Amino acid sequence: MNPFEKSVLPSMSPDGQMDLFGYVAADNRSGVVIPSPDCSLNGLVHFKYSPLMKKSIRCKGGVLFGHPEVLLPAYMKAPEFADARELAAEWAEHAVRRKTQKNKAIIKDLVNRFWQAVDQIFSDKGEAPLASKGRLPPIRPQGVHHNLTDVLAAINNTYFGGSLTCRITWSNRVGGLSFHSVRRDPVTGENFHLISISRGYDAANCPLYAIAGVVYHECLHIVIPVEERQGRRVVHGREFRQREKRYIYYDEWIKWHKEVLPRNIRAMRHHKTL
Ligand SMILES: [Zn+2]
Repeated sequence: MNPFEKSVLPSMSPDGQMDLFGYVAADNRSGVVIPSPDCSLNGLVHFKYSPLMKKSIRCKGGVLFGHPEVLLPAYMKAPEFADARELAAEWAEHAVRRKTQKNKAIIKDLVNRFWQAVDQIFSDKGEAPLASKGRLPPIRPQGVHHNLTDVLAAINNTYFGGSLTCRITWSNRVGGLSFHSVRRDPVTGENFHLISISRGYDAANCPLYAIAGVVYHECLHIVIPVEERQGRRVVHGREFRQREKRYIYYDEWIKWHKEVLPRNIRAMRHHKTL
């Protein structure tokens, strides 16, 4: 059957139910199939819309013969979001399956591609992309010069007996500080610690002991909670400073941090390569 025949099938079956393939019989004489906002092109994933949602999508499994239903923000009903909706459908098909390591990686990739597609649609329309506030930033441990995953693994094994389960990324802010935050994975719904390292450390002139020093510092924030003292938040208390000095290259790292890092950050602001 060719697609043009499909497109003129009635969208209601004789018993009055929406047909499973969701083709709309509207006046579409040009032969171009306009994607329905109600379901994916293969007809298997149905879309619902919420006027309250802006920067999130949700899915529910087992709605239609085991296929999921996706809840999208209402503005995504517009035709220009058709391709993005297909990605959401593909995401939902994986998100309702068992979370194997492989499936988790696919889910994460689809979520990222989906929001990239949405941002692209906004910029094609000449509108600002959705604020990324609250949304998971891209996690990029591989820098130009250094891989943070390797450094974190070494620090985790040496100083924490491999007990930390955090993730790590180069900071997305130019010249930003290094920091630690707790994030919620939009796919699994689980909270996790995220360490973000200033890009000033991703430099040819940065020795590994300096990166390891700042990674160790941020790891300490995971295991030493903020103290509340006389109404003040003490982030780097006495215990913190004592444990920080156990780092074998503490003095060398601090020297690099004070002398070279500010120069690197100034250079980044002037768009020089480090
Ligand atoms: Zn700190």
